[in-house]
Amino acid sequence: MTDQRPATTVKDPVCGMDVDPATAKHATEYQGQNDYFCSLMCRKAFEDNPGQYLGRQDAGPTASR
Ligand SMILES: [Zn+2]
Repeated sequence: MTDQRPATTVKDPVCGMDVDPATAKHATEYQGQNDYFCSLMCRKAFEDNPGQYLGRQDAGPTASR
């Protein structure tokens, strides 16, 4: 009965939660890529310091060794 499709979710880079882009209320574009967040708080944290949460290429200058 339940018509549940596996939603394509993305990870909230701040808290690691799964977020559905179709319903996400909080999103931002960074380096041409859309990132989605579970809450405004996560979005703000990300916008404050995107590099810290992406860790895709450059590790932040404050990466601990
Ligand atoms: Zn979050």
